[in-house]
Amino acid sequence: MHKKILNLQAVYTARNNINGIVRRTPLIKAESLSNSNIEVRMKLETLQPIGAFKLRGAVNAVSQLTPEALSRGVVCASTGNHGRALTYAAKHFGGQATICMSKLVPQNKIDAIKALGAKVEIFGDSQDDAQTIVDKLVSEQGMIELPPFDHADIIAGQGTIGLEMLEDFSAIDSVIIGLSGGGLIGGIAMVLKQANPNIKVIAVSPERGACMAACLAAGKPVEVIEEPTLADSLGGGIGLNNQYTFDLAQRNIDELVLLTESQIKRGMQHLFYNEGIVAEGAGAVGVAALIDEKIRKRLQPLLGSNVGLVISGKNVDMDVFHKIVAR
Ligand SMILES: *Cc1c(COP(=O)(O)O)cnc(C)c1O
Repeated sequence: MHKKILNLQAVYTARNNINGIVRRTPLIKAESLSNSNIEVRMKLETLQPIGAFKLRGAVNAVSQLTPEALSRGVVCASTGNHGRALTYAAKHFGGQATICMSKLVPQNKIDAIKALGAKVEIFGDSQDDAQTIVDKLVSEQGMIELPPFDHADIIAGQGTIGLEMLEDFSAIDSVIIGLSGGGLIGGIAMVLKQANPNIKVIAVSPERGACMAACLAAGKPVEVIEEPTLADSLGGGIGLNNQYTFDLAQRNIDELVLLTESQIKRGMQHLFYNEGIVAEGAGAVGVAALIDEKIRKRLQPLLGSNVGLVISGKNVDMDVFHKIVAR
């Protein structure tokens, strides 16, 4: 397949495309993580409509479809934040999103995405089964597939976070970002490293099912067994035919941290009790890394004195969240 060019210009274009639809989120100081030597600031993507940064990539991608392409509809197999974002974006531009999922997806998730305006197709009992329906809708009905991370317009959209961080925090020395498929870190790192190659990029994943970590260790895309984690938005593979994000991760990540489930939980608790922020597990991993003494010590040489954290999303089941912060 023809590979679309992904560069800084594409991120500036994305910024124009998302302007007025996606929120320019605040970058606020985390008092509880800062001291006289270090200032830590949090990029609050929890404040986006749909509650996560994925709206940036989805809006950028849908905004570039021709009216004819949009009329055929957009489709993906994501049940999480990307599915929500794509549904929201399609609706904004007058199109229809179809979200394909397996029978294992809980009813409350199905209802939530339908409520946003998606059509839902349910088939099989794995993500791979759901993907076969996506492929069918693309080949038989001409729908446009917009995947969650490995797509130039999606990555460029997520990269707009990097532009905003540079503007609001020009002294930034390092950035800590949750890593799954790598669209988020890939886009942001591309922007920050081009502005200043000395800015350090730190990736954080749950140790359960850390696919990109395994791929980086192997030097090529590989598959890992998926395991449930509190940071559920960080689950899933990167695709054996990965086009963009593996290369971006390989070139730009300076350090990769893996977290246990209890470390992720403590990150969510810290954000809630010290900063008054509700974040999902994936949104709290940067905080989780910084409040763990051993990890913070290991990261110390990379952090510098101005640290940016991406609080990537807040979409956690409220019953689950309630249990996590109950004490
Ligand atoms: C998707 C997602 C991530 C990870 O983004 P990738 O581009 O897949 O690396 C992190 N946090 C949240 C809340 C997400 O929805």
